[in-house]
Amino acid sequence: MFGSEGVIVNRLRRLRLTVPQALSRVLAATVFPPRCCLCGFEGASLDLDLCSFCFADLPWSPDADRAGALRFEPPVDELIRELKYHGVFAHARVLGVLLAESVRERGEALPRLLVPVPLHSARQRERGFNQAFAIARYAGRILGVPFAREAVRRVRDTPSQTELDVYARRRNISGAFAVAGRRAQARLQAAGHVAIVDDVITTGSTVEELRRVLLGAGARRVDVWAVARA
Ligand SMILES: [Zn+2]
Repeated sequence: MFGSEGVIVNRLRRLRLTVPQALSRVLAATVFPPRCCLCGFEGASLDLDLCSFCFADLPWSPDADRAGALRFEPPVDELIRELKYHGVFAHARVLGVLLAESVRERGEALPRLLVPVPLHSARQRERGFNQAFAIARYAGRILGVPFAREAVRRVRDTPSQTELDVYARRRNISGAFAVAGRRAQARLQAAGHVAIVDDVITTGSTVEELRRVLLGAGARRVDVWAVARA
């Protein structure tokens, strides 16, 4: 999936970045050299905050075709929890890079717009940020796909899904999302092919509900990208 240290130039070439984009990434990697967020060793490549050892030890899912290239197990679950509940913002970059690389590995046609799963405004205020937005920003930057910050809103503050079974989850999430007005709808229609971005998928009821809303708003194809699957 990732090359060793010697293939940075090839990786950049593969990304088809413009010269200023490539220069800014090389500069960023020089000023903020990637460090392994698990052991502190040197990062394995230009923008990966994991060393090659920790990267190889990640709990890769054998089922690579499904959304979620990694299993929600240590250390991935810890990285996601630290980002989500303790504001360890640096983890958004490593999770976004892992997501982008797993998507590229699958070799599917890329969407034209990313739609991170929105949080209800009350929840977002409480947490200070939305982890799915942060991950989508990095993944989108690597793949060259823009992300829609405001295309969809979470109009209902649903109780936590964690204690519910699959049927209760579906009922709980129903009607939770709405497209944010005509401009947002036009953007989804124009994109046609979009991908929902989330940190972790458990039963899939949240992303299924969001997919239903996006298809209803005129998106023709809706993929689901998640860093991990529980
Ligand atoms: Zn490491």
